[in-house]
Amino acid sequence: MSTTVEEQKQQKAFGWAATDQSGTLSPFNFSRRENGDEDVTLKILYCGVCHSDLHVLKNEWGFTSYPVVPGHEIVGVATKVGKNVTNFKVGDRVGVGVFVGSCKTCECCQQDLENYCPQIIFTFNSYNPDGTKTYGGYSDMIVVDQRYVLRFPDNLPLDAGAPLLCAGITVYSSMKYYGMTEAGKHLGVAGLGGLGHVAVKIAKAFGLKVTVISSSPDKESEAINRLEADSFLLSSDPAKMKSAIGSMDYIIDTVSAAHPLLPLLSVLKVNGKLVTVGLPNKPLELPVFPLVFGRKLVGGSDVGGMKETQEMLDFCAKHNIAADIELIRMDEINTAMERLAKSDVRYRFVIDVGNSLSHQLMSLEANDQTTSGFTQVSLSQSNFELQRPYDKSPRERYSFNNGVHRLWVYSTDKPHTPTSHTEPRTEIRIRGYDYSSGVWQFEGEAYIPRGTTGATVMQIFGGSSRATTIMLQVYDGELAAYRRSERLLSNMYNRWFKVNVIHDVGASNVKVYIDGVLRYEGSGAGGHYHYFKFGVYAADGPSHRMESRWRGIRVLTKN
Ligand SMILES: [Zn+2]
Ligand SMILES: [Zn+2]
Repeated sequence: MSTTVEEQKQQKAFGWAATDQSGTLSPFNFSRRENGDEDVTLKILYCGVCHSDLHVLKNEWGFTSYPVVPGHEIVGVATKVGKNVTNFKVGDRVGVGVFVGSCKTCECCQQDLENYCPQIIFTFNSYNPDGTKTYGGYSDMIVVDQRYVLRFPDNLPLDAGAPLLCAGITVYSSMKYYGMTEAGKHLGVAGLGGLGHVAVKIAKAFGLKVTVISSSPDKESEAINRLEADSFLLSSDPAKMKSAIGSMDYIIDTVSAAHPLLPLLSVLKVNGKLVTVGLPNKPLELPVFPLVFGRKLVGGSDVGGMKETQEMLDFCAKHNIAADIELIRMDEINTAMERLAKSDVRYRFVIDVGNSLSHQLMSLEANDQTTSGFTQVSLSQSNFELQRPYDKSPRERYSFNNGVHRLWVYSTDKPHTPTSHTEPRTEIRIRGYDYSSGVWQFEGEAYIPRGTTGATVMQIFGGSSRATTIMLQVYDGELAAYRRSERLLSNMYNRWFKVNVIHDVGASNVKVYIDGVLRYEGSGAGGHYHYFKFGVYAADGPSHRMESRWRGIRVLTKN
């Protein structure tokens, strides 16, 4: 089968991913398909943190395929719609839940139960029909077939509404399917976490009498005062459990740790129903006697179909139901995951994706600006010529490990040749790309250890009015162009920062970008040939020891 160029088109995406079983998340560049005729592209604004994100990150269910970008409680704004998309337009508030595809033809799909389709495609850690992997909502954007996109009602808050897309539909659908919505009936909600607290709110909206069942006594005032449950049952107190025997019509069991079912089945009335929606790692023991002698039923339920999920969102909007959330920044996610593992959250973390990924996005886009239109030249170790005090061996002033060039020199060192009268230096001069015309760019990430001062760390050699076109120098934690004349960066010790220096010879112009932001622009210094250097070269008032480290060195050009 041939693939057209159109089909191969990709959109750049950026998110946070885990690459191994530690589950630690870090920034991750990837791509998503171009928006097709049936697709909606969302700019993601918020994403809820579901307990299943944590299970998958740590491969607790045994089917994680790394790298994994989690997140299936996604809310955002439509930024592109395909030509066959009828229900959405650019600018609409939209949501995406637990799955992004299904076969569309099986019995389940035809009955609006896509959530039970054998070919369901989950929002992350799953595969599209074309073999590409699905990545979830801990990212800046997502492309989804219109059938799996939800309209997010206007009066539903985008942040606190996000958890409804998994937690909300899970409890709503189970209550609807098992006939647990009759006003006045008595519902027990076992477990007061992300699912449980939404279950209380939805059940109250149906007019049910609600009892929260929990093993922790401190949940009592939360349940009664904050969530307005009718009563609280402490499951770790045998006397209280005994007095509650035969009192409830239904139970939603949201507990995701292994736990005994017998005490819960005992508090059900004859004909009572227990629906389990938590997903414990180990099988639960099923006591058959209370089922048989009380005609009781135990069932399960997993999220809901698209039609019912839309119905649930509209129901929650009408009844002002949203989750209770702790809003976090993207870079707080690893701490949030540690807290979630200890159930230390009230009651759902939601990532402020729109505001906390944007900074990194800006610098990535800015970086595109600095290098777009340029061609990278090939560099190998032979293009790096080390200049060092002439009486020292290279390893006394230079190391190269794990991609990092480390260069150091002492103010008392000798020059780089016996006949030179210049200050001491340990520098790499880039060989093979000396130039006299065109536009040339040096790119690299730099790290200057605290204590280094009075040193040039990067330069463009060659000029007529002076020996160099530009010198980037370090003075007391500040990066400057030529001594202290132009300050480019403060507090720059002991951290990596990105440096892009662009020299347009014809226009006699030099620009310096730090971390993608233009920090310096000035005129060139003339001259007939130039090349790039980096390292340490003693300038005014140098410290005894000077050091700079560099990685990711690239030279680019355009003519
Ligand atoms: Zn979920
Ligand atoms: Zn299907």
